[in-house]
Amino acid sequence: MRDRAAGKKRVRRGRPGRRSLSTSGPGLKKRARRIASMLLKEYPHAKTALKHKSPLQLLVATILSAQCTDARVNQVTKELFRKYKTAADFAAADPAELEQEIHSLGFFRQKTRNIIQCCGDIAERHGGRVPDTLEGLTSLRGVGRKTANVVLGSVHGKPVVVVDTHVKRLSLRLGLTWNTDPDRIEQDLMELLPEDAWRPFSDALILHGRAVCRARRPGCEACVVESLCTSSTC
Ligand code: SF4
Repeated sequence: MRDRAAGKKRVRRGRPGRRSLSTSGPGLKKRARRIASMLLKEYPHAKTALKHKSPLQLLVATILSAQCTDARVNQVTKELFRKYKTAADFAAADPAELEQEIHSLGFFRQKTRNIIQCCGDIAERHGGRVPDTLEGLTSLRGVGRKTANVVLGSVHGKPVVVVDTHVKRLSLRLGLTWNTDPDRIEQDLMELLPEDAWRPFSDALILHGRAVCRARRPGCEACVVESLCTSSTC
């Protein structure tokens, strides 16, 4: 849709009724499954870009990735994981030193606090092992549902929907949800798609959000699911 006054394109957010696209009931489910199938073909090998060799490394990298690109996190963790090898190592880190080491990733004070606290919990309450359940992971200080789902899906192979900023934005634009709360979006996507598609669909949405359906300038003209999207600018 073109905003004539501003002379710029703008994206309609989940506007219903475009081309009679269903935004509820069985029609929505059918459309969601077609979108998933097309995106999974487009991004067949989608998986987290955060480099890690253990559940602990992925947990720390995911905490560090808030408001930051995965590429930048990977640059920092290359050195970080050489120095801190166990949860006890992170728990015993000098906060000022760790803050300095992750400074370039932004929100370094909060990230430092979260890493030290959650690793302290892992060392003291879980014998140094990262829990493999949602309850166990979210009971760790500094670990939210999104971070827990990343670890559960990528390391433990559990069927999960990860709702990050890209998944939230694309779910709304595609008209797959009316909710803005990540937990409710997670539930909506879980109801629309079969369990085995949850994780790969989240990963595909993240890649599509980075490559095509960008926050500021979505590339609708090059989008493989344009015909099924309620917010296309084409
Ligand atoms: S890029 Fe695709 S998914 Fe995003 S708004 Fe445009 S048509 Fe919809």
